[in-house]
Amino acid sequence: MNNLVDLHLHSTFSDGVLTPTELVVEAAALGLRAIALADHDNVDGIPEALAAGREFGVEIVSAVELSTLWQDLDDLHLLGYAFDHENPALQQALGEFRDFRAGRSERILANINLRLTAEDHQPLDFSDVRKRAGGTIGRPHIGQALVAAGYVRSMEDAFIRYLVPCNEPKRFFPIEEAINLIHDAGGCTVLAHPPFIKASDERLSELLDEFIVMGLDGLEAYSSSAGNDGIDRYITMARRKNLIITGGSDFHQPIKGGVVMGAGRGNLKIPYRCVEEIRSIVCRRQESP
Ligand code: AMP
Ligand code: FE
Ligand code: FE
Ligand code: ZN
Repeated sequence: MNNLVDLHLHSTFSDGVLTPTELVVEAAALGLRAIALADHDNVDGIPEALAAGREFGVEIVSAVELSTLWQDLDDLHLLGYAFDHENPALQQALGEFRDFRAGRSERILANINLRLTAEDHQPLDFSDVRKRAGGTIGRPHIGQALVAAGYVRSMEDAFIRYLVPCNEPKRFFPIEEAINLIHDAGGCTVLAHPPFIKASDERLSELLDEFIVMGLDGLEAYSSSAGNDGIDRYITMARRKNLIITGGSDFHQPIKGGVVMGAGRGNLKIPYRCVEEIRSIVCRRQESP
């Protein structure tokens, strides 16, 4: 065991290609001490991960990645950690969210099918898309169906030709509501992959101040999308604001030259200390709610 962790992985319960058990097996092979499945808007893979974690000797931290909204910023990703994944309010909110997503995916597919028919292609069946998703359905599953039908060469191509032009509005949790949902389930909240927010450091700092007032607990400073300089800057920013620091690769699937579990783009080394920070802030909140 190397005392390293990866706290941002996706499984077949959202848009990852490995099952929770396969992720745990890979983590054990890499010698990781702890991992967290952070599926999009879905916690249903956590029981399987916990069981596999016990079997293969990898600590599992319960996690979820929520798509949130604040003012004109949409699709801000918020990670929840170390909550009770059986919390009824959380389960219900995620269930409603998933129902909306399924409806949206059907509307996107209807738009795409109009295009396909106009191009003299056979339309795709929604059941084919649905069976590609183990839980949360999203555009990547429609993309897989387009690739499998031979209508596009790659996922990238699927997004350019069909999924972006035929998109339908997504639903987001207002960020404050998302923070409360995770806190009420006994967990803590972390702003995911800061480079994706595409804000200057000054703007990011202002955003963090806004979210801290709402109860944000941490920043995902170790991110595949940040270089070493970026990681150092995020760590400094988080420490100054008394936020906890977490990290994860955002691994979705094994692809040559792509993001690797535990290592990201090769430079990630995420210390076990991140798990200790998560556990300690959650304990502190339980003592003084
Ligand atoms: P959705 O939440 O259904 O809108 O799907 C968004 C997901 O699609 C993101 O989380 C990415 O994983 C994936 N995605 C978005 N844009 C692209 C792209 N250009 N190429 C490949 N995957 C993409
Ligand atoms: Fe994803
Ligand atoms: Fe994300
Ligand atoms: Zn993610």
